[in-house]
Amino acid sequence: MVKTIVVGAGGRMGRRIVHTILHSSDILLAGAVEKEGHPAVGRDVGEWVGETKIGMAVESDLRRVVDRGEVIVDFTVPEVSLKSLEMGVQGSLAVVIGTTGFSPDQMEQIRTLGSRTRCVMAPNMSVGVNVMFKIVEEVARVLGEAYDIEIIEAHHRLKKDAPSGTAMRLGEVIAAALGRDLEDVGVWSRKGLVGERTPTEIGMAVIRGGDIVGEHTVMFGGIGERLEITHRAHSRDNFAQGAVKAALWVVRQRDGLYDMQDVLGLRGKG
Ligand code: NAD
Repeated sequence: MVKTIVVGAGGRMGRRIVHTILHSSDILLAGAVEKEGHPAVGRDVGEWVGETKIGMAVESDLRRVVDRGEVIVDFTVPEVSLKSLEMGVQGSLAVVIGTTGFSPDQMEQIRTLGSRTRCVMAPNMSVGVNVMFKIVEEVARVLGEAYDIEIIEAHHRLKKDAPSGTAMRLGEVIAAALGRDLEDVGVWSRKGLVGERTPTEIGMAVIRGGDIVGEHTVMFGGIGERLEITHRAHSRDNFAQGAVKAALWVVRQRDGLYDMQDVLGLRGKG
């Protein structure tokens, strides 16, 4: 039983991760943490996620529970995830980060700290999306320069970062497959007389509304046809199951920064 601490246990993802852990036989909930002042703090964790009481209260400080765990699972905001990673390094705990929206500076800190413990970080923990990363890479290589590439993502109205971490990763994977750099060829918005599309650009369109869990489409637009590859998340449970899979996997690894391609054994395949 892998002893796991969930940071952000009151959030949309945190609640589903706690729920998934409580229903799994090989992973044990060792602690749950939320922001000071959040309504979950002090509540029984089981009851908070709609299950029976388990006799464990949601804490407001990771330091109070860190000794109980082997792995920290954090789906919060970038600054908090960085703190969780620091505490993981100090306490020799493995860390799983699902948070998105890190700045380039914060990513650099993750790379430095992440290599000093066992860490999985992935903008999308679903199996389907990770297979999609492989597929779009292959399609981009096969279709090459003749097809225009546009990425469209849609999420719920409360999402804070844009484009989504997953859309950014799709763009990076495709750009790398075509020998381009997303920083140079990414087009983040179009308005007014922007002129004709250049052949190498990779466009990103962002939709926000309602309770859309997460949808991503990559469009390869040719002359007389287009190919679209779409992933739709129906609920957050696929991400939560991916996070649990990552936690169980990462505790058995050597120090290093990994992502879901490693967890799912997709690295280098295809
Ligand atoms: P959310 O806002 O519902 O949840 C985040 C939670 O973190 C909130 O409850 C908030 O109170 C809590 N938090 C903030 N500061 C904290 C602190 N100091 N200590 C403890 N908890 C703290 O958001 P969400 O929809 O659950 O998404 C969280 C993150 O996960 C986002 O970055 C989102 O993009 C990302 N996400 C990743 C995946 C994936 O598969 N990797 C899937 C869905 C969402």
